Order: sequence, then structure tokens, then C-alpha cells
Amino acid sequence: MPEKPYDHNHIELKWHARWENADFYKAEENSTKPKYYVLEMLPYPSGTLHIGHIRNYAIGDALARYKWMRGYNVLHPMGWDAFGLPAENAAIANRTPPREWTLHNIAAMKKTHRRFGFSYDWDREISTCEPEYYRWNQWFFLKMLERGLAYRKKALVNWCPQCATVLANEQVVNGCCWRHEDSAVEQRALEQWFLKITDYADELLDAMSQLDGGWPERVLTMQRNWIGRSEGAEIDFHLAGSGEPIRVFTTRVDTIYGATCVILAPEHPLTQRLLDAAGRARAKSMVDDRANRDPGDIEKEGFATSHFAVNPYSGEQIPIWVANFVLMGYGTGAIMAVPAHDERDFEFCRKYGITVRPVIRPVDGPLAVEPGMKEAFTDYGIVENTGQWSGLTSEEARRQMAAWAEQHGFGKAAITFRIKDWGISRQRYWGTPIPVIHCPQCGVVPVPEAQLPVILPDRIEITGAGRSPLESVPGFVNVACPKCGGAAQRETDTMDTFIDSSWYFYRYCDPHNGRMPFDPARIAYWFEIDQYIGGVEHAILHLIYSRFFTKMMRDIGLIRNSEPARRLFTQGMVIAEGAKMSKSKGNVVGADMLADKLGTDTARLFVLFAAPPEKEVDWRNEGAEGIYRFLGRIYRFATRNTPPVARDGSADRKVLRKLHQTVRKVTEDFESRWHFNTCIASVMELVNLLYAEEGGLSTAAMAEVLEKLTLLLAPFAPYLAQEIWEELGKPGPVFRQPWPGFDPELAKEEEAEIVVQVNGKVRSHVHAPFGTQAKEIEARVLADGKVKPYLEGKQIVKIITVPDKLVNVVVR
Ligand SMILES: [Zn+2]
Ligand SMILES: [Zn+2]
Repeated sequence: MPEKPYDHNHIELKWHARWENADFYKAEENSTKPKYYVLEMLPYPSGTLHIGHIRNYAIGDALARYKWMRGYNVLHPMGWDAFGLPAENAAIANRTPPREWTLHNIAAMKKTHRRFGFSYDWDREISTCEPEYYRWNQWFFLKMLERGLAYRKKALVNWCPQCATVLANEQVVNGCCWRHEDSAVEQRALEQWFLKITDYADELLDAMSQLDGGWPERVLTMQRNWIGRSEGAEIDFHLAGSGEPIRVFTTRVDTIYGATCVILAPEHPLTQRLLDAAGRARAKSMVDDRANRDPGDIEKEGFATSHFAVNPYSGEQIPIWVANFVLMGYGTGAIMAVPAHDERDFEFCRKYGITVRPVIRPVDGPLAVEPGMKEAFTDYGIVENTGQWSGLTSEEARRQMAAWAEQHGFGKAAITFRIKDWGISRQRYWGTPIPVIHCPQCGVVPVPEAQLPVILPDRIEITGAGRSPLESVPGFVNVACPKCGGAAQRETDTMDTFIDSSWYFYRYCDPHNGRMPFDPARIAYWFEIDQYIGGVEHAILHLIYSRFFTKMMRDIGLIRNSEPARRLFTQGMVIAEGAKMSKSKGNVVGADMLADKLGTDTARLFVLFAAPPEKEVDWRNEGAEGIYRFLGRIYRFATRNTPPVARDGSADRKVLRKLHQTVRKVTEDFESRWHFNTCIASVMELVNLLYAEEGGLSTAAMAEVLEKLTLLLAPFAPYLAQEIWEELGKPGPVFRQPWPGFDPELAKEEEAEIVVQVNGKVRSHVHAPFGTQAKEIEARVLADGKVKPYLEGKQIVKIITVPDKLVNVVVR
């Protein structure tokens, strides 16, 4: 047949229309096949998909299609993380209700998803802003309330004046709002709801050993640091005069004889009592300034009080200071400063001229001499000038000194964590209403389960002012108390949207359940997720909360698994022409624009080809055009060789070897490291060889080549693969065919037969893979049994080697 030009629009629109109502992406409910749950992180419905989204989905889609072809029952769902601030901001900006704006965006994005032909089981689609979904957020909240895992407290919270809302600690970046790099975060005291994620801190940390190998090491390290477990001791210093205890947490009690001051956090209760009005004002301004609580990032500042603390071991009196880098939320809000053995304390005490006193020496060296220390000595060593503990190792001193504190009633060994309880209250409209009622008689009363969901009222006015917009909706706020029936008020805060995404992947398994969040039996079949795919920016927010939710759900008896996902893959970013994509730069590569111009297959294949999936990809127009030409080459080759023309078969062996090698390479990569870029490169090599050897392929070889090449293409460029499949006269969806096998013998690189001469006379032959190094061949030649007799008693003058062909040994 004459070749056909590659018309991507014609091909993609044709199959898009035929697939629109097809149901071959549905996961089977009762299956005897092995299951495979592949999941990409669900998007926020901002309105448009760009090439960065496409990369995430193209990886998951290739995997899903491959697993179908390998005979798995695949679950590959998609949904919408639909609550959140942008909808509210859009509502303020252009007076569109958040719900309308969100649904409109979902419809637009879903259209693009379908245009790309991603293999989602759309019957399982969920949208977190729908009452049938968020009612279960409320249900989980009530379960946690019953178990004391949800509690309320007045707390200083991070407040972004621009968002006019509370931010989680994770949403504070360098002291500013994560959405507003120029908006300094303030501290405000508000009654808030918290989830006790700290109850699970130990398990979240320890269980990471099960994720080793399946999760990127980088993500595990970020989680470890975020949880931040430190083992140490709590020790009570005493306020000189009154004897009131001041509890400090230290990981190095062995250095306590080197403590030269006690430093309080500016919001420490004692700070307020010890200081005069001017001091209190100074402390307060520190709290306000210090939006970012990460001590590593801020200039250390402090001031002395007129008070002293007594070291309980030595009886020494040391001054009490207040400083901005001491955190109320970590440890006890008070520290002992040991400048000789802690870098941060050293920096602070040098700045303010506070005594530096070394008490730990290196195991193999003398104690540092002060003045003259240039830096803190932070290693373990031998303890000196420390009363009865002098001469012990640091490790031994830590143990004995903590035990001694406990015996004498002024301290104990203790563990502290960096992770804090999860503050979930948001003073916003577009989120899940927190299901509690405030009654003047009964206090906080949970909404009875039978009254769920507490529905978010529609059509309300959103002004962007500071408090929750729900406060101005009397029909929502004013209710009868479920306990006493008296007049009461609903909570008007909504939940952090990270609640929505903490468990959505369970709902996909049973998305229409009206009685429970899901049927536990279905979870038992599908979980854990076999492969989760998303951006590394979610390493500590979403991925810690999801693990916490899973453990909570296990503990209330809903599920058996303790972790949500067996394997996690974090794909790299996509930039465009060397620059980060952003709306303001106007360089966002939109998915629909690409589909129009080059087709969806080209867009997918480019992001898979341009770099290994974990690395950054730079979108280059000329690179994408190269992919487009490559697909065109395949299509033209396939159409002009269908049906195959009878030829002599002289190239069969060479081409089939390359074909089987390519199948082996792609198969091994899907099963291991996902280097799709090198897989696609090897398919390109195969296509180049096909062009070179086209005239020498027999009918049977050509048929095999075309079939397997099409199957190899199916996970990466499904529209084109399907079109060729039809051209080949084969029925059914191409990605429901068995994955092509390879013959390991045929895939073996053929060996070169190398002639071995001694002084120009043929004495032997050796076989070696093509391209074997001359040195290696020569060593084999010299050890060859047929050659050896001719070398005995002779001196080798030189060896002449023609690669892959000949070795001539010249002897004398
Ligand atoms: Zn903000
Ligand atoms: Zn009441």
C-alpha cells in the first residue's frame, strides 16, 4: 500500500470519539487476576492543564497500560482536589460563586484529560467539594474527637494578612506565606482545632523502614527531619531566690557544667512574669517578627533579664536571657546555652559576650583553652570539670546524669519531636464545615452522625475580610443544640484542605458508598497502592498527613494496612525553554495548545523521552517537533508495508535481533527503573534500522516487526498505536493485547568470529561479542590451547589486532 502521511488530528479525533463511551478502563470488582493500583496525585482544578501535569499523568498512564497488557486487574482513577483558597479568591475577583468556578474548571480540565486519552476509570471520579465526599471528612473528624485525637486549644497561629487566614507551619516559607512571598506572616492567638498527629510521631518515624526501597530516599529523609525526634533529658534549673523550676530540654546533659546562661522563648510564661513592661514589649515584638519558627534562618537576637537560674548539678548561678531563636513549640520553650559545645549557642554567646566554658575534650586530645576557641566542639568526647562525672565518656555521662536527675527529682530522660499537632481550622468558606456546635449551656457539642453532612451553604457573599464568611450566614450559624435543644451556634471554621487529600485514594475503591467512607473488604483487595506518582513538593505535607490518616483509620478498625502506598515515585519538574513556567512570564506550555499543534501522543512521548522521569525536563519546541517526526516515520513505515511485500529476508536476522533486544529493554525498564527515555531511544534505533533494512525483510519478519513495534508503542503513544493496529487489520484495543515477549537467544548480541594467526598463519578462531576490547581478545588468544604450542620458547615481538576480525601474533 502507498504510505500515508501522519495526520495526528485525524487519528486522535477519530479514536477519541470511538473511545468516549468505551469501558475498557474499568477496574474489575471481582477478579481472579492479580491487582495493580496505580495512582497519580489528584490535581487542584485551577482550570487548565499544562505540560507539567501531562508528565505526571503520562508516567502513570504508561504504567497502567503496560500492567493491563501484562494481565493485571488495574485500578487507575482520577479526581479533583476541589476545595481551597483560589476558588474563593476568584469569587472575590470576579463575583463567580466558588462552586460554579470550581465545577467549570473541572469540566474544562476533564475535557483535556479525555482528549489525551488517559486511561482513567471515570466511573470512580471523585470531587472533594461534593457533600457525598466531604461528609466523610466530617465523619472522620467525629471519630477522632471521640478518641481524643481532635482537640481545641487557643494557640498562636501563623496568620497571613493577605490570605486573611491561618497557615500551617508547613505553609510558612522563609517567614512568609507560601502563596505570597512578600507577605510576612504574623502571630495571632485563636481557638483552633488540632489533630494529634504527634501521637503517631514514633510510628510515623519507625514505619519508614518498611518504605525503604519503595519510596525515594529523599522523601524519607525529608519526613525524618520534619518529624525530628531527639533523645535527651528534661532538667529543672531553679529561679534564684524563689526556687521556681525552669524546665529545659537538652540532648547533651553531659555538657551541663558548660552551661553559661539559660535562655527563654519570648512567649514563655516566665518571660512575662520576670520582665518589666518595656521587656515584655520587646519580647512581644520578637514573637511578631519571628514568623518563621525555623531557628536556622533568622538572625539570633536576645537580651538579658536581671534574673538568675541555678544549675541543679553544680549549684552555680547563671544569668537568664530571652532570645528569638528559642521556640515555645519545641522541647520546653527554655534552653541551657552551652556555647563551648553547640554552634548556635556559640554564635549567640560570642555576639553578646557571654562566658564560653569548655567541659568536653576530644578522646585523643586536650580540653580547648578559652579565650581563644574559634568554634564550638560539638562531638562526643571525654567529660571534664563536671564533678563526680568527670572522666566519663559523653555517652556514659548522658545516661548517668539523666538517671541522677531522676533520682533527685529534678529531671528525667526524655524524647522530643519537631513535628507539632496539625492545626486544621481555617477561617474560610470553601472547605469542609467542621461538624461541631457551640452551646452556651453545654459547650462544644459534636453534630450527631445522623445529621451529617453539615452542608456548606451555597450562594453566600464572599468579601475576603478576615473572619470566616460563614459567620454572616444566619441560616447556617443559628441551630438548636443537639444536647439541650437550646439556641446554639455552629462552628464557622472549615477544615484544612489537606484533610480532603489525606484519604481520597481509599474512596476511589468504593466511590458511591452512602453508608460508610468505603467498604473495608474492597480496601483489603486494592490496598496498599502499588504505585503512587506525584511531585516531590508533597514530601512532607500530603504524604505525612496521608500516612497519619491511614494509621488512624487502621486504629478505628476500618482498614488493616498501616501505610497507604508501597511504592512512591516523584517525577521531576517541567520547565520551558530553560525557564521555570509561570503565568507572569507567559511561558506556560498549555496541554490543549500542544494537542492542537502536535498532538497528544507527541506531547506525552516528549516528556517521557526528554529525561529520566525523576529528573527535570526542559520543554523545547524543536525537541517536540523531533518526536512528531519520529511518530510520522513509524506511521509511514507501517502503512507502506501493510500488507508486507515479499522480499528475500537477507536482513531478517539483524532486524529481529534488534527488535527482540528492544522488547527486552522496554520490558526490563518497566519492571525496574523506568528509564523511559532510554526505552524510547532504543525504539528510535530500531526504527532507523527498519528504514535501512526495509528492502531485506521477509513477509513473516515484517509482520512480526510491525506487530511488536505497535505493541511497544501502546503505553506511550496510544492513539498512534491504535491506528496502526487497525491498519494491520487487528481487532480490539491495542493496550488489551498481551505484552510482546522476546526470545532471549535471539536477543543475544551476535558474536564475532576472530581469526587467530601466529606469524601470519591461521592457527585458531575465537568468538567474542562485537566490540570487545583488543586487550581482552589478546589475553584470550594468548591463553588459547591451539595457539600456545606455537608460542612456547618464543619471544612475542608484537600483536596486531583488527577489531572483531583478526589477531596476528608475531613471535621470534
Ligand atoms: Zn498568603
Ligand atoms: Zn446545649
